[in-house]
Amino acid sequence: MARIPSTPQRPRRHGRTVATIATALIVGLTASACNPLDNNTNGKKNVLATFTVLADITRNIAGDHVNVNSLTKPGTEIHGYDPTPSDLKSAAKADLIVSNGLGLEHWLDKLTSNSDAKRVVATEGITPLPITDGEARGEDNPHTWMSPTNVKKYATTIAKALSDIDPAHKDDFTKNAKTYSTKLDAIGNDLRNDLSTVPQDKRALVTCEGAFSYLAKDVGLTEHYIWPVNAETEATPQRMKDTEEFVRKHQVPAVFCESTVDSGPREQIVRATGARDGGILYVDSLSDNNGPVPTYLDLIRYDANTISKGLTHS
Ligand SMILES: [Zn+2]
Repeated sequence: MARIPSTPQRPRRHGRTVATIATALIVGLTASACNPLDNNTNGKKNVLATFTVLADITRNIAGDHVNVNSLTKPGTEIHGYDPTPSDLKSAAKADLIVSNGLGLEHWLDKLTSNSDAKRVVATEGITPLPITDGEARGEDNPHTWMSPTNVKKYATTIAKALSDIDPAHKDDFTKNAKTYSTKLDAIGNDLRNDLSTVPQDKRALVTCEGAFSYLAKDVGLTEHYIWPVNAETEATPQRMKDTEEFVRKHQVPAVFCESTVDSGPREQIVRATGARDGGILYVDSLSDNNGPVPTYLDLIRYDANTISKGLTHS
């Protein structure tokens, strides 16, 4: 979700003194407009999630009881992100910082270097899949949220963390997590149903980033990708060759790429193999409110639809 901009209310100008005070107020508020947490003077706790997907999940648990902001804007590449001075101020003002963990936010220590905020790692207790690049390289795949089943655990973990900073609303957080889990069960079923229509001989998912391991496992697709993690978006000649061979060998009908990366390598695979351009998938970021995936549930729905269309279209 987009950061909530600071929009100071302009007081009515009944006289010179009031106008002067009003101007001072506006100047003061405007000076802090670039910081997403500065305008939260409503007495609620401030929660900072590292990226849009996590902020949306957290909002579903938090309801209106706390202010939830995403550190990064829609469309931002999250793996290679470098926190700005304004981000460090946001972190310093936060009561709770929600991160994904599993190596997604290599920059988290920099972000929290000057912050006393409590911290919660949303993937706590989730068994990760390994990142493989030809062979396993001893790292965890951080894209755990691409399985709605995993996100049910996110919901429980986040509800507990919110209850720690705002115990008065613990019951609501627990209730909201349960309600959201029901929606996650439903979207998980839809995902499996959508992709069950893909014929056995076309059940291969080829993407730019290896971000779909959890989704592919949930729905029984064989996964292949050009590069393992976006932090190293390198379409090396060997990786391109391997992908072209995979597409030809398995007669993969369509190749997909993520919204936050350059689609050039995908286009090259399409040209070389005759496979279709399957379109854009969303993983590391939501769209803004006017885009196709303003929420996490929209993201899963959109990706399921794009993949099943791409693989079944003749
Ligand atoms: Zn990623």
